[in-house]
Amino acid sequence: MENNFSIYNTLTRTKQLFKPLHEGKVGMYVCGPTVYGDGHLGHARPAITFDVLFRYLRHLGYKVRYVRNITDVGHLEHDADDGEDKIAKKARLEQLEPMEVVQHYLTRYHKAMEALNVLPPSIEPHASGHIIEQIEYIKKILESGYAYISDGSVYFDVPKFNRDHPYGKLSGRNVDELLSNTRELDGQDQKHHPADFALWKKAAPEHIMHWPSPWSEGFPGWHLECSTMGEKYLGESFDIHGGGMDLMFPHHECEIAQSVAHNGHDTVRYWMHNNMITINGKKMGKSLGNFITLDEFFNGTHPLLEQPYSPMTIRFFILQAHYRGTVDFSNEALKASEKALGRMLEGYRRLQELTPSESSTIDVSDIRRKCYEAMDDDMNTPMVIANLFDALRLVNQVKDGHATATQADIDELKTVFDTFLVDILGVRTEMAGDSAEALKPFEGAVELLLDVRAKAKASKDWATSDLIRDRLAALGFTVKDTKDGAEWSLS
Ligand SMILES: [Zn+2]
Repeated sequence: MENNFSIYNTLTRTKQLFKPLHEGKVGMYVCGPTVYGDGHLGHARPAITFDVLFRYLRHLGYKVRYVRNITDVGHLEHDADDGEDKIAKKARLEQLEPMEVVQHYLTRYHKAMEALNVLPPSIEPHASGHIIEQIEYIKKILESGYAYISDGSVYFDVPKFNRDHPYGKLSGRNVDELLSNTRELDGQDQKHHPADFALWKKAAPEHIMHWPSPWSEGFPGWHLECSTMGEKYLGESFDIHGGGMDLMFPHHECEIAQSVAHNGHDTVRYWMHNNMITINGKKMGKSLGNFITLDEFFNGTHPLLEQPYSPMTIRFFILQAHYRGTVDFSNEALKASEKALGRMLEGYRRLQELTPSESSTIDVSDIRRKCYEAMDDDMNTPMVIANLFDALRLVNQVKDGHATATQADIDELKTVFDTFLVDILGVRTEMAGDSAEALKPFEGAVELLLDVRAKAKASKDWATSDLIRDRLAALGFTVKDTKDGAEWSLS
């Protein structure tokens, strides 16, 4: 299967032509959420970025196995090796069973993803459902000599590993500096070196999530689940591993070290990282008071929000930037995206109503190629959107009677929009069922007024015709007369 799809590989720091390991098939793994709180904008970006990748690979004809994990154990506060488990802490504070916390936030995460039109992955494995596999994985790393047991816990030996294999090659961290860190290990520390990380942690008596293992009653380290589950479902070598840039170090660096220690070679062929979202120029954080959940965006209930923003506005906003660029949220930026999306959907609707002519005065031959070129260039979604807006200008020229298009050209435009806007960018062109139903009588009433106005015009009753147009305009409706009759839109 031939393709021209290039993706930026964080590991090689170059754009590379994508060639899957197995003809016609792609294995991809993306780090999913730690389910101890509501999803926020920072969760939406990787989910949407890798959803577009998933959609595009499928569009190119690949059979894709997309694994996105659920972290429900072992993710300690501050991503560290000490401190409380994020889920156990939430469970303690809310007096719930840890799995109640997981189920509650997982259900809400799925709902938010569905609202954003993010397709479900092929497999969504839970860390807590793969404890046996993780224990077996640790045993093999211990056999390789790159891990040691310390008071019931097992740690990965980073300095020893680094003598044989480069540690830090993904993030480009200065490992010598990291390893020469002479910070005194405090007396409590069971690690031989501060850079070492936990593969298995012995549970403190108050720790509520623990499992039996050869070393202690305890729980797996956070980094381990992704190496274990990636290999279980995608094999010892697979094509793509994705995640947010914030996971590059230490999480993904540790994943690489674990799989090299386990298998003797790298597992992942293409590493892809999406950039972060800032809010009014600042990093998002619970302590900074600028932490806005997805539900708050959808309902407009956070004090920083001037209005609600629909899930499709959020999706469009994220896709208007290249996934490797930073995105800054502001009300102005989101309102601009809302307007742009509105113009796009209005154009899509007008496209469905075009009347074909005998000949074309527009040229649609290049649009499809340009959209593919943009996607092939490391998923340049802002360029795809720019090409679609160029195509919309043609749609509007034809609709407004300034140009003509044959049936074949109209069909080509429809194919381009259905392929790129709907299938690949995943933009929903229909309103959600409920709101569309609720708006039907309202739309009917506007249509009725326009029918009355058409009758008035036909009998040259200009006063009535103008009155209806002006009163609708005062309410925010724009009425436009076209050769197929009057059209309205809400400005
Ligand atoms: Zn991960």
